[in-house]
Amino acid sequence: MVNYSEHNPLVYTVKNLCKVCYTCVRECPVKAIKIINGQAEIITSRCIACGNCVKVCSQNAKVYHQSTDAVNAVLSGQEKTVACIAPSFPAEFTEIKDYKILVGMLRKLGFDKVIEVSFGADLVAKEYENIFSNAEARAIITSDCPAIVSYIEQYHPDIVSYLAPIASPAMAVAQVVKEMYGAKTKAIFIGPCIAKKAESNSFHEVLTFSELRELFRITDLDSEGVIPSEFDPPYSGSGALFPINHGLLKSINRTEGLGEGEVLTAEGKAKFIEAIRNFEEGILKNQHLELLCCDGCVQGPGMSKKGDQFLKRKQVSEYVARKIKNLELLNWNSEVNRFASIDLSRSFNPSDRRVSKPSDEKIQEVLISMGRTSAKDILNCGACGYETCEAHAAAVVDGLAEAEMCLPYAIEKLHQYVDELHTTNSQLADTKQALKQSEKLASMGQVSAGIAHELNNPLGIITLYSSILKEEIDKESSVFADIAIIDEQAERCKKIVGGLLNFARKNQVKHTECNIIDFVEHSFKSIIIPEDIRVNFIHQLDHPFIRIDADQMMQVLTNLERNAIEAMPNGGELTVELNQKEAELIIQISDNGTGISDENIEKIFTPFFTTKGAGKGTGLGLPLAYGIVKMHKGSILVKSNDNPEIGSTGTKFSISLPYKNEEFKNK
Ligand code: ADP
Ligand code: MG
Repeated sequence: MVNYSEHNPLVYTVKNLCKVCYTCVRECPVKAIKIINGQAEIITSRCIACGNCVKVCSQNAKVYHQSTDAVNAVLSGQEKTVACIAPSFPAEFTEIKDYKILVGMLRKLGFDKVIEVSFGADLVAKEYENIFSNAEARAIITSDCPAIVSYIEQYHPDIVSYLAPIASPAMAVAQVVKEMYGAKTKAIFIGPCIAKKAESNSFHEVLTFSELRELFRITDLDSEGVIPSEFDPPYSGSGALFPINHGLLKSINRTEGLGEGEVLTAEGKAKFIEAIRNFEEGILKNQHLELLCCDGCVQGPGMSKKGDQFLKRKQVSEYVARKIKNLELLNWNSEVNRFASIDLSRSFNPSDRRVSKPSDEKIQEVLISMGRTSAKDILNCGACGYETCEAHAAAVVDGLAEAEMCLPYAIEKLHQYVDELHTTNSQLADTKQALKQSEKLASMGQVSAGIAHELNNPLGIITLYSSILKEEIDKESSVFADIAIIDEQAERCKKIVGGLLNFARKNQVKHTECNIIDFVEHSFKSIIIPEDIRVNFIHQLDHPFIRIDADQMMQVLTNLERNAIEAMPNGGELTVELNQKEAELIIQISDNGTGISDENIEKIFTPFFTTKGAGKGTGLGLPLAYGIVKMHKGSILVKSNDNPEIGSTGTKFSISLPYKNEEFKNK
């Protein structure tokens, strides 16, 4: 028998297989599973080895100690071995049509004797019958299911004294084996139960049916060619009904007592927990409880097949019916009487594992941190694995659960992340765009600086000579008009070249302190504002003083204002608004003009891009503004709509500039 401990746990988690579905948390009757770093881990000290988590984990992330190697070693040794097979075997080995083949296979595997545990149930049933039929005896809770016994010992220690002090059928049969086959015989229990592995020291090893199948597989043993063989004595009777619902009662023929409140049967997690709670509360105090952790042992976690509980029950019942038909009653009675004297008493070890509930304040704190701030947020949806939001919050306080297990909370957080991601993405796109722009501008700058420099001198000569010619020629002659055009166009070329040089020169920013309100007022005076354009100037600044290069920034402002006016050929409103955002000044210049198409908005900062007719625009206003704002370590953004169907058309440029003043240094 293995000694299970924290270092050698009976049921444990295979790390990394867990996909955190919380099914195990939900199914664990004692909440012995904690979610830590996104993994469900079993807390060995709280586990009752019921195996519910093993049953429900679709990822096979919950496993139990395997005894196959140890059993193999015993079978190859010298000592006598007895296989004690649990009564649920007909529900497991359905592919083996005759139970005698299974017995033959066990013998071939190396067992010297093969007996049925149900004989132990026959013995134990008699003890229970005595208690149940004694109207005076105080109520008892059956103690044949090891998981139920551990559950009561650890989580309801106050009612341990109500557990029937009667050995389990397996413990009883282990004693019979010793009597019949000698004290040195190695008894191996084979059944559907994981908790059995830790029940007592009665057996040398405990195998589940799944492990037995594994032993058959590794030894290459199948039913083919196996000699059918009968079980060894002692032969059992209706105790074989034990693993199905109400099995104990059926085996002692007391099912008619059901419903009259004499013996209350509760099987499966939800029911046994409620029954025990009610018993402890006194509601069921005078009633016997027959409790099984699984829905009958046929649904145990050591069965290789899940589900089909009704089919499994039918298979066991049919096997028992055949068995009873062939039972030699006299023989059986004498066997039962022969072992009537064995000691079937047992004791229990209460060991309180209850944790005290955290304070209401702490629970409330966690609930609020999960966004459960009012009664309508308390959904008790159970998605986290806990029945109530409060139980979940308490587990979070105890370090057993994480807030992220709350589905509504996780969904809200996910939405938040998606929004944040959205913002980050668009910021990234803006930055990418800006980077492309500055690369383009840098190379444009180099080329245009070269060209502009070369063109400046010849252009100077053209304008000089055209001016001289204009002086000398009769103003009325047709040649004068031609020369005037040459002069005018040469002047225009000089303006463009001047703009190019402006754009290209690696300007130093000469910061001086300006009152931005006066500065904007001044900019309005530097441009021609048609009569049909209304100017709005909105400002409410605590800090009107900002350090900027006044000449350059005046160019920026007037360029943008001029563009706005040019976009409103039929009149409109030009609005300049000043705002402060922390250590930045925001200047917004907007118009309700034509707007800029999506296609053009990508190009407006590119040098020479203009939509204005020949001789009107140079396409240098915005690239220049962009360069100057960047040199001020600021940014320039544009928003525009040119589609009247979407809303009113217009464009808004936003410039943000760092204050740079002493008082903003540390911001
Ligand atoms: P230009 O004014 O010489 O055309 P800019 O670089 O100043 O060159 O502007 C480039 C282009 O951007 C303009 O031709 C125009 O199409 C567009 N644009 C700039 N500002 C506005 C605005 N406020 N409304 C509509 N379009 C604008
Ligand atoms: Mg312009």
